[in-house]
Amino acid sequence: MLSNEKYKGDALLQKTYTVDFLTKKRAVNNGEVPMYYVEESHPAIIDKEMHTAVQLEMERRRAFAEKYNISKLDYATVDNPFAGRVICGHCGSAFGRKVWNSTDERLRRVVWRCNKKYEVKGKKSCENKHIDDKVLYHVFVNTFNAMVENKEYFMEKWKEGLKSENVLVRYRARQFIEILKDAEIVEEFDVDMYFRWVEKMTVFDGKKIIVSLLDGTEIEVVVE
Ligand SMILES: [Zn+2]
Repeated sequence: MLSNEKYKGDALLQKTYTVDFLTKKRAVNNGEVPMYYVEESHPAIIDKEMHTAVQLEMERRRAFAEKYNISKLDYATVDNPFAGRVICGHCGSAFGRKVWNSTDERLRRVVWRCNKKYEVKGKKSCENKHIDDKVLYHVFVNTFNAMVENKEYFMEKWKEGLKSENVLVRYRARQFIEILKDAEIVEEFDVDMYFRWVEKMTVFDGKKIIVSLLDGTEIEVVVE
């Protein structure tokens, strides 16, 4: 029962995400269950904390879906990581995914567009521009690298988080510190990393994107 709860907690707090769930989980847990737990907490307290963190995380997701009028709570997947997480900087609606097909596979494009744009048929109700999904992948890579390059600043910020009263805030801070402390500049998008860090990306006219991390940190990325 307890281990089951912990398993559920790990999954919900996205320590693991990929198809290779069980294998990955073991590997991740070895490295990632913070020393804090090992040294200072009785196992029963770990489960109680994890349980509370999971409740807070579920509440965060519920409030997020309600705020942005997203019908499904978790519909981002490894293949479609931006679903329900791209938000319009003009009107606050969620962006939806559109595939622009072509007989030439090379010209096929995936774009994200404000759901309010053509809410009334033939009539634009939001003027925000669409954004290519390649840009969104890039934006996360840039965001991650910005954190690596400003590691000291971010580490200080999350060290404050470790002192929080809120168990979910402490959990995120620990996880962010664990990942960032040895992280180096990356070139490729990593979907697991993306799920661990990003709550949403708010898009302004395809030029400016504000990336909100799961702890509420906002990082602005300008697309050139
Ligand atoms: Zn909009």
